[in-house]
Amino acid sequence: MANLNGALIGCGFFAVNQMHAWRDIADASIVAICDRDPERLRIVGDQFGVAKRYTDAAALFAAETLDFVDIATTVASHRPLVEMAAAHRIPVICQKPFAPTLADAKVMVAACAKAGVPLMVHENFRWQSPIQGVRAVLDSGEIGTPFFGRISFRSAYDVFSGQPYLATGKRFIIEDLGIHILDIARFLLGDVSSLTARTARVNPAIAGEDVATMLMDHKSGATSVVDCSYATRLAVEPFPETLIEIDGSDGTLRLAQGYQLTVTGKSGTTVRDISPPLLPWASRPWHNIQESVLAIQRHWVDCLASGKEPATSGADNLKTFALVEAAYIGAASRQPVQIDDLL
Ligand code: NAD
Repeated sequence: MANLNGALIGCGFFAVNQMHAWRDIADASIVAICDRDPERLRIVGDQFGVAKRYTDAAALFAAETLDFVDIATTVASHRPLVEMAAAHRIPVICQKPFAPTLADAKVMVAACAKAGVPLMVHENFRWQSPIQGVRAVLDSGEIGTPFFGRISFRSAYDVFSGQPYLATGKRFIIEDLGIHILDIARFLLGDVSSLTARTARVNPAIAGEDVATMLMDHKSGATSVVDCSYATRLAVEPFPETLIEIDGSDGTLRLAQGYQLTVTGKSGTTVRDISPPLLPWASRPWHNIQESVLAIQRHWVDCLASGKEPATSGADNLKTFALVEAAYIGAASRQPVQIDDLL
């Protein structure tokens, strides 16, 4: 495969993981970077040896010949940057949350479709190897047809020191973290027809909600509970593990803290440690997420080469984004929300 030349826009906290992962992918290189903050540009440019540096994305698009662009800025800039990529007909990856609102997200998906450019949302949690391991058990048929799921992320980890913007937004845990956990629920149990939500703010020092509990009807007939908290102090801090319980017609699976997967199914009970690998550039406890960054970027390169639609394409991500929107609407009204009404 020919080497793909990409550019990264946004050289902040998380982009460093993306740069490490690009270095691990033989068929793609980041040939230019952009950040409106010259200091971030210098730090990332020097760390990864990228000479072509821009403080303005418009200048980057005008000057470079690119096979793709990887947007790792925060949400406010996603729509203008994705629209710029579409206007230049450059395939684009965009970090989550994809857009400030579902209406913006729909416009962005339409702009890329009209321009005929591939669009993938960097929705990486489903690419964590333990989550892929759970999906493989479901696909094997060992526990039969799922009728119940609980996808849970409860922690008291201080995410605010690395990402101070998380403390200031009116929306917090559903938009930032719940979006991943809702996507995992879709990945494992299929699309959702209705959602009921409750939220709370326990930490008085932040602006948004830090606890969210969501009950969902899946189109398959399964019911799931997605519960997220950054106000849950535990004996052993599980960050950033997603814990999973699925009950099926022929058995159950449990992904417990410490990446212990217990499956009771047609062939009895097995207990396996499905811990993610610690990549050479990764550090605990983030290694689970860092590994998934490499996996999703590899998937993008495979999709560009084969012409396949990415698993978390813009169009797919609208269905996850609708769950986020539904959770905020439903938490405010205390009423169930029909998902198809939003799409
Ligand atoms: P950050 O604030 O540390 O970095 C963002 C960078 O983008 C900053 O350096 C900023 O100067 C730059 N920037 C903003 N607007 C720009 C523009 N228009 N042009 C050029 N540069 C611009 O933020 P972060 O914590 O790295 O988060 C970035 C994104 O990654 C967020 O959307 C966040 O939700 C997401 N994120 C994803 C994961 C994941 O697992 N997928 C984890 C953490 C963060």
